[in-house]
Amino acid sequence: MTRRVAITGCPVAHSRSPVIHRHWLALHGIDGTYDRVEVKPEDAPAFYRDIAAHGLSGCNVTVPNKEAAAAACDELDDAARVMGAVNTISLDADGRVLGSNTDGLGFLGNLDQEVPGWDGEVRHAVVLGAGGAARAVIWALLSRGVKKVSVVNRTKSKAEDLCARFGADSIACDWDDLGEILGETDLLVNTTSLGMAGQPALDLSLSRLPETAIVNDIVYVPLETPLLADARARGLRAVDGLGMLLHQAVPGFERWFGVRPRVTDELRAALLADLGAAS
Ligand code: NAP
Repeated sequence: MTRRVAITGCPVAHSRSPVIHRHWLALHGIDGTYDRVEVKPEDAPAFYRDIAAHGLSGCNVTVPNKEAAAAACDELDDAARVMGAVNTISLDADGRVLGSNTDGLGFLGNLDQEVPGWDGEVRHAVVLGAGGAARAVIWALLSRGVKKVSVVNRTKSKAEDLCARFGADSIACDWDDLGEILGETDLLVNTTSLGMAGQPALDLSLSRLPETAIVNDIVYVPLETPLLADARARGLRAVDGLGMLLHQAVPGFERWFGVRPRVTDELRAALLADLGAAS
């Protein structure tokens, strides 16, 4: 029987997830579909309680429904519980609704692929931003054993709230102290929307970063942000955000369709072509 899966949220027209999952469905010759289904926030609690009633074996969840989806699940994985947000839903054999959050795994999968062994050398990571994506990145870094995560955000109170959620290994810092903090940074991650197409660039000098530092911008439109260009100009290792988007899709596909897919150059090129066509 054809297994139907979808990206759900409101709006969903912009989502690139169908490109990724349809690529893998075709590659592996799987009898499945992956579509876009708009779910209005007021319909979200009932929808996620019973996705089978909508003909779905599983789904992804995007804004603004991630918290409502978490509340509707029978069981959450560790990441979804800590983040209070679900982006991937599957059903177990008894029809129970299982919620997970794979954004953090996507972040880790990207770094693992681009800088193998990074976690052996990163003791101190600095995360810029304190929104939904920062939450996933902080969870991921701590889950990998990074000793200290400094969180720097325009609105410091949001960074403080996040750090209270994650415990003593995460510390909210002032933006004004960033210059000094960068001197002791092994990994810098931008999770703000600065540098994204239509947004101002991130105005930050990287001159204090050690030569061994890694810079990861999770913004992926454009692929080469001014931050990454600066990092490369300084000879630092620079990692773009497209791989995070690709890798976050892996666990869901495996759960729904029983095959662990790979993030290949071919898939990356397909997504880049689609993003080019969409912009
Ligand atoms: P969000 O929840 O809206 O958070 C936005 C963050 O950016 C906040 O920390 C905000 O600070 C900061 N910010 C916005 N404008 C700013 C400015 N002018 N100056 C300083 N800080 C500013 O968004 P999100 O969901 O976390 O997403 C953030 C970015 O990550 C987006 O570009 C998104 O495309 C990207 N992303 C990528 C992936 C991937 O797979 N690669 C996944 C998720 C997100 P305040 O708290 O002070 O407002």
